[in-house]
Amino acid sequence: MESTHKFSMAVKKIVIVGGGISGLSAAFYARKKDPQASISLLEAGPRWGGKIATERVPIEDAHGLAPEEARFIIEGGPDTFLATKPWAVALCKELGLGERLHGTNPANKSTFVLHNDRLLPLPDGLAMMIPTNVQAILQSGLVSWPGKARMGLDFLLPVRSAAGYTDESLGSFVSRRLGREAYENLIEPLMSGIYAGDGDQLSLASTFPYLRDLELKYGSLARGALEMRRKSAASGQAAQGSRSAFLTPTSGLIEIVEKLIESLTTSGVDLRLNTAVKFLDRLLDSKWIVGLASGESLNADAVILAAPAYASAELLKGLDPALAERLRGIPYASTATVTLAYRQTDLPHPLNGYGYVIPRSEGRRALAATFTSTKFPHRAPQGYALIRVFVGRAGQESVVETSQTETLRATSLRALAREELALSLGIQAEPLVSRVFMWEKAMPQYNLGHPERLAQIDAALEQHPGLALAGNAYRGIGIPDCIHSGQLAAEKVA
Ligand SMILES: Cc1cc2nc3c(=O)[nH]c(=O)nc-3n(C[C@H](O)[C@H](O)[C@H](O)COP(=O)(O)OP(=O)(O)OC[C@H]3O[C@@H](n4cnc5c(N)ncnc54)[C@H](O)[C@@H]3O)c2cc1C
Repeated sequence: MESTHKFSMAVKKIVIVGGGISGLSAAFYARKKDPQASISLLEAGPRWGGKIATERVPIEDAHGLAPEEARFIIEGGPDTFLATKPWAVALCKELGLGERLHGTNPANKSTFVLHNDRLLPLPDGLAMMIPTNVQAILQSGLVSWPGKARMGLDFLLPVRSAAGYTDESLGSFVSRRLGREAYENLIEPLMSGIYAGDGDQLSLASTFPYLRDLELKYGSLARGALEMRRKSAASGQAAQGSRSAFLTPTSGLIEIVEKLIESLTTSGVDLRLNTAVKFLDRLLDSKWIVGLASGESLNADAVILAAPAYASAELLKGLDPALAERLRGIPYASTATVTLAYRQTDLPHPLNGYGYVIPRSEGRRALAATFTSTKFPHRAPQGYALIRVFVGRAGQESVVETSQTETLRATSLRALAREELALSLGIQAEPLVSRVFMWEKAMPQYNLGHPERLAQIDAALEQHPGLALAGNAYRGIGIPDCIHSGQLAAEKVA
């Protein structure tokens, strides 16, 4: 006789800690994988999105502009994502945002480098951030003649053998291939800027592993970068025409967050703001207890920690002090962005490029400025300009981390940004609008030893079934990597 008894499948309970893009993505993909699961997403702060923070600021006295055009789109944190890593584009498409993605402005693509207090264009022909156009390098004022000759040695220098090689700093690698001057004046401000990091500390294997692959495969960085460019052109990537490598939704990256929240609400995810998690513990039957600052606690079959590594360390310190120590050991840099808006007629500079980067050797307190309204024209109406100044990087953070009150810090950061734009672009006008975003301990530093640390963390996690980590602290700091980390964590536990 056939049994009529059906096993009732228990509903799986998943708790996700941290409502930045990593935690939101983890919740989205966990729901997709298990439509029945009970999922809670807990965020300590009063809003979703973590480092993604878009403000839509109305323009007062914007005569002649339609109301929907009379606004600035100001990004306080990330302002675009890399399209060549597939996970952000894929998520945007799933959320129905595919048609709202803008590329960067194909006109005025130059980037400048501050050199002896002057803005000089980056030489043409950078491939994977490596200079490949000999003519352009010869003409560039960014590197001296001896420096240029040293760059040429890249074609001749022997390859450092793989035997016994583990890792080296970005600074050491680029300096040994292209020379210290090219590293300091060209490569460092571009590459370490992504991490607000110190290139002499950053692990090559964790930040730009493909550079070492180029050395091993082609014997020279420039030859390798050229070859890669030739191959991608041949495989048709270039034939996609002017499709931009960087994308962003029409009214700011927060659109992704808004859509995720909409989808998670509709699919019954328990979403809680102002809900800080205090500790994590395990019951004997391998269930988890998630202790909240309010005193309440939640039971779970699985937990995803998508908070910064130092915050996850706090939650785990009672349960697994060694794992907590490894997580706490990932250093973070503090940084800030200051966006200033002007009438174009008030500017003595044409803002004819995407912006400029500032090598450490220039001794400025800012590290870069983006000409936002040139790079993304839809962020400001015609006749207006937006400029965003980055301040603070590893080793130069005192300006962000002072003991002053938040208001005083914001005032001094605004003054610093204005001083920077006066020095480099000659801008004296009062900005129409200004916005300061301070990001303390925001940028994880993948320093030497990071790959080994990740291996130790992975080994420790083996002892904790049902626990996963996601976020920018581990295997990629950009938005696509964060989304991917959330997706992988969801697959692991759901
Ligand atoms: C100024 C700046 C510019 C950037 N520019 C770009 C860019 O252009 N392109 C790009 O791809 N990337 C950029 N990045 C990097 C990228 O924005 C981040 O790496 C990414 O947004 C981090 O997402 P996350 O979810 O991992 O972490 P977060 O956004 O930090 O989210 C973690 C969340 O966890 C919460 N939390 C912490 N502790 C607890 C707790 N105990 N309980 C509950 N919740 C907790 C926090 O409140 C926070 O909301 C930039 C970053 C900064 C700061």
